[in-house]
Amino acid sequence: MATKTLEARFEHLSVKEENESGKNGSAYSKHKGSLSTAVSLSGLGSTAQLNNGGNRSALLKLALQNTNDNKVNSMNVGSSPTKGTHSHRHVDENGEQRHSSQLYEQPEPKKLHLGMFEIGKPLGKGKFGRVYLAKERSSGFVCALKVLHKSELQQGGVQKQVRREIEIQSNLRHPNVLRLYGHFHDSKRIFLILEFAGRGELYKHLRKEHRFPEWKAAQYIAQMAAALKYLHKKHVMHRDIKPENILVGIHGEIKISDFGWSVHAPNNRRQTMCGTLDYLPPEMISQGSQGNFYSEKVDLWSLGVLTYEFLVGEAPFEDTPVMTQRRITRADMAVPSFVSPEAKDLIKRLLVLDPEKRISLDEIQRHPWILKHCTKDDRGVKRSSGPPKEGKA
Ligand code: ATP
Ligand code: MG
Repeated sequence: MATKTLEARFEHLSVKEENESGKNGSAYSKHKGSLSTAVSLSGLGSTAQLNNGGNRSALLKLALQNTNDNKVNSMNVGSSPTKGTHSHRHVDENGEQRHSSQLYEQPEPKKLHLGMFEIGKPLGKGKFGRVYLAKERSSGFVCALKVLHKSELQQGGVQKQVRREIEIQSNLRHPNVLRLYGHFHDSKRIFLILEFAGRGELYKHLRKEHRFPEWKAAQYIAQMAAALKYLHKKHVMHRDIKPENILVGIHGEIKISDFGWSVHAPNNRRQTMCGTLDYLPPEMISQGSQGNFYSEKVDLWSLGVLTYEFLVGEAPFEDTPVMTQRRITRADMAVPSFVSPEAKDLIKRLLVLDPEKRISLDEIQRHPWILKHCTKDDRGVKRSSGPPKEGKA
């Protein structure tokens, strides 16, 4: 079968194509997620999807969802693309054999490429990447396209980190976790197709408002707890929870992003650590020779710092770098009196030196402060559009 671009596929979606897929039916043995360096799209050819006709946007979403199973091989910066395999199962990087059972009746994987996107306004600039608003031309699907230059990643020695970010984030699907729909690359750049967070950085909102009213902080923390529960269930610890790494969706819901420091297993990030120390948990601060073992409970500490910063407008251990570290290792902080006793209680239960003694995510969701300000809906997932009717700000 001739290789067609995703765009071309969308343009030619028709009953004819549907019949074609039916005809080829079981002959489809091309697996998706080929071990090629560019990511491929798959899942477009299933009859069920084509039967939906017309709804291109939905199709693209489906297609993009399927890219999540793609293995990341594109981070061998500088290497040239390798040919995809055409068997319907393959052995992945971990030596695991993967069946593509849900993928039978599928056409050749479709390659993503820059030409498929109409590039819009710049959304922001990070250490390595620039992010643009983008629209997939044929479907109108709006997303954020993050462009990373391979040379800069190499110079910064962060290829591994980016690779991990892609591997981890591709497999996450939660309303409060920023989706990574897919990625592709050319000779110089890597492109990440991200969910567009319409209201931008939470950090900017916090600076503008100075501090959040309790109802809003509580709803954000409830959403954070829901997202972290999901991540921890998948054995992902984020390790870099802070307002700069949280985006806000169009409905005011928060989206955790920036999985550059996240890991599946305990790891040591000290050598490469940079940026603020304010959110660093005590067990991640060097104590000498111990080797720094820590668990996903690091995110609970950071959630405590976040709760504090939401309510107070500054982080609890903000000080000179030396003093910040010293104060963290002693959990030396004071909650101002304008903070409600319930919120203060939650902060104190999170900022506990012994990781095992920190309040659990389940308990956070049942904590009086959360219950007071969040309806059942808010406690999972959604918006922070206002205080609950009976509640006071
Ligand atoms: P760093 O390089 O330290 O990770 P960063 O997180 O700011 O910095 P990027 O993730 O490249 O860098 O993002 C740059 C900026 O672009 C963000 O701060 C944000 O304002 C904007 N941005 C990034 N992703 C999105 C998105 N999915 N939706 C909306 N805006 C985004
Ligand atoms: Mg970032």
